[in-house]
Amino acid sequence: MKPEDTEPQGGGKRPQDHTGNNLTGARTLSSLQELRAAVNECKRCPLWKAATQGVPGEGLVPSALMLVGEGPGDSEDLRGQPFVGPAGGVLDQALHAAGLDRRSVYISNAVKHFKFESRGKRRLHIKPSTGEIEACRWWLAEELRLVGPKLVMALGATAARAILGQPVTVSQTRGVPTRLSASAHLWVTIHPSLLLRITDEAQRHKEFDRFVQELKDALAWIAKNPS
Ligand code: SF4
Repeated sequence: MKPEDTEPQGGGKRPQDHTGNNLTGARTLSSLQELRAAVNECKRCPLWKAATQGVPGEGLVPSALMLVGEGPGDSEDLRGQPFVGPAGGVLDQALHAAGLDRRSVYISNAVKHFKFESRGKRRLHIKPSTGEIEACRWWLAEELRLVGPKLVMALGATAARAILGQPVTVSQTRGVPTRLSASAHLWVTIHPSLLLRITDEAQRHKEFDRFVQELKDALAWIAKNPS
């Protein structure tokens, strides 16, 4: 059996395109140190074409807590690291307020290449399509398998969609841990970029505090649920 033919073990089925054909180009990783090269070689969806580089997850391995966002933005695309732009700044603030930092968790995204449209010199982020999310689920499943989290926090609906393989409404599932596998649960919350879009300062502070409390609650849940 070729490595490309093996199934990921972190959850999720082999990705297929809209006609039900298996996508090719995946491989099973021996360690996450191979992930950057793997996503930079990946052509399982069209997003690699316009992006500068692939953006693999990074952080603590193994880690009890894994955070998953939507996809790289402009800064992430240029630096090759997840959550290093404005939303990453908010996430860092929230992690710090919850007594964490990014080195104490694993952080990744549903898709590993930047999807954007050009407006003059600016590159504006576009939400990845269902097909692109499905194609990239291979790598997310590999990360789940190798990181081995007890709790996966989906930052927004796209991340939750990628992890579960079906549409998710954040407002209906937020903050309620649901079982993903024998060893892992999912916790759905907001994407930190949402906080950047709230113009009312009092409301923004309120939502930030709620996000921080969720991170604290997630840590408490992990402590109470050792396996
Ligand atoms: S976004 Fe994911 S599936 Fe698409 S080319 Fe990049 S690594 Fe491959």
